Amino acid sequence: MSTGAAEGANFLAKLKRRDLVADGSMAFHFEKPASFVFTPGQFINMDLLSPAETDAEGDMRAFSVSSAPYEDTIVVTTRLRDTAFKRVLKTMPLETEVKIEGPFGDLRLHNDAKRAAVLLAGGIGITPFHSILLDAAKRKLPHHIFLFFSNNRPEDAPFLDELQLLEKRNANYKFIGTMTKMEESKTSWQGERGFINKEMLDKHLKNASSPIYYIAGPPGMVKALHAMLQAAGIDDDDIRTEEFTGY
Ligand SMILES: Cc1cc2nc3c(=O)[nH]c(=O)nc-3n(C[C@H](O)[C@H](O)[C@H](O)COP(=O)(O)OP(=O)(O)OC[C@H]3O[C@@H](n4cnc5c(N)ncnc54)[C@H](O)[C@@H]3O)c2cc1C
Repeated sequence: MSTGAAEGANFLAKLKRRDLVADGSMAFHFEKPASFVFTPGQFINMDLLSPAETDAEGDMRAFSVSSAPYEDTIVVTTRLRDTAFKRVLKTMPLETEVKIEGPFGDLRLHNDAKRAAVLLAGGIGITPFHSILLDAAKRKLPHHIFLFFSNNRPEDAPFLDELQLLEKRNANYKFIGTMTKMEESKTSWQGERGFINKEMLDKHLKNASSPIYYIAGPPGMVKALHAMLQAAGIDDDDIRTEEFTGY
């Protein structure tokens, strides 16, 4: 599928809205120029212009686009760590302009709908998959998609309710959530517990036809899940990854 946009296009975009989407995770909505075309799963580079503060890491970060192409804003979603970049993003007034460059990257849903897609996400690694899943539901894509979403607690899981409810809009989609620190949670949880492992995959993928696996998130998580898939005998040709370097 073509992105329809030259990689590396530059434009200024105003911040229109901020939403808390989990404890410590926020979605930032920026205006989207008509010329900005991207494929779900791609990322952008964002530059803060004249930020109130800066630090050694500078004023630019890469973010997967967490919104879908049919939406009228570009949304990026991030963990609100205590860095200069994120303090500015969290507090700058609405209508502040940032520079956006992109889209970049080739993490995108495969074309062959006869093959299932197995998406493995930990925490903020959900962002490219959120875009892919919204798009698949909207366009009624025939792919069977299994999302394994691992978090410490339900409170930490970005878009948790929405990702569960999406099953009602897409009969080809299955949500499998797992929590690794329920002892620290104040809510209840009916889903899986513990890290994503081979047993969990086998349990839920009995009907998955010739899957292609996708992993996105902080490098440590991506490497651990990649190693788990390799140990389970999955061919590397069937594994696609996106590492959020910087975490
Ligand atoms: C293709 C791609 C897509 C990405 N998509 C996303 C996305 O959708 N959402 C997203 O949030 N990020 C995404 N990232 C990562 C993003 O670009 C930032 O690197 C990341 O959010 C960290 O930025 P920061 O300002 O919190 O930390 P930085 O200031 O960049 O941190 C610099 C260093 O300090 C360490 N550090 C800083 N704060 C802490 C802390 N509180 N605890 C422990 N260590 C700390 C970091 O480990 C890092 O080594 C993506 C990266 C890539 C390459």
